[in-house]
Amino acid sequence: MSSKIKEYRGTEIGLDEVKAGKYLFTNYDTVLRYSWTSGVAISRFLSGLKEGQLWARKCNNCGRTLIPPRMYCEECYRPTDEWVRVKDTGTVNTFSISYVNNDASRRKKPILVSVIDIDGASPGMGILHLLGGVEPKKVRVGMKVKAVWKKKSEREGAITDIDHFEPA
Ligand SMILES: [Zn+2]
Repeated sequence: MSSKIKEYRGTEIGLDEVKAGKYLFTNYDTVLRYSWTSGVAISRFLSGLKEGQLWARKCNNCGRTLIPPRMYCEECYRPTDEWVRVKDTGTVNTFSISYVNNDASRRKKPILVSVIDIDGASPGMGILHLLGGVEPKKVRVGMKVKAVWKKKSEREGAITDIDHFEPA
């Protein structure tokens, strides 16, 4: 470890300070504004969602079609080569029946969270999304599903432009 790293170590918080509440506070009025770039691949992916399309990247070296798309193939250690439009249908790879909301509160009616392998992409390439239009007990790995898109006027270039996937 160089001495330079030591200079930027920060300040240790002692147990006494924690017990005294020195570093604990609650402020629900805080408004945080921030922006970031999604990068070339995800920007195109999100723009596609707004149009009701799913776009993937193909690596011509290994032949894989990657979704979500990335500009670099992690198997070949080289840039991917081309954009490929894939279908908005797929297969349930795995799923979970969740009785917990994003804020960790309990739900009475479960949500079905699934990884869906997208048709036209390579096996194991898929997206995490919600399943709907199906009873939790009827969901199966290998089940064919299709995207249920929000109305075009409601889409905003987000993964939530697909409301959910339902049995095909
Ligand atoms: Zn590759």
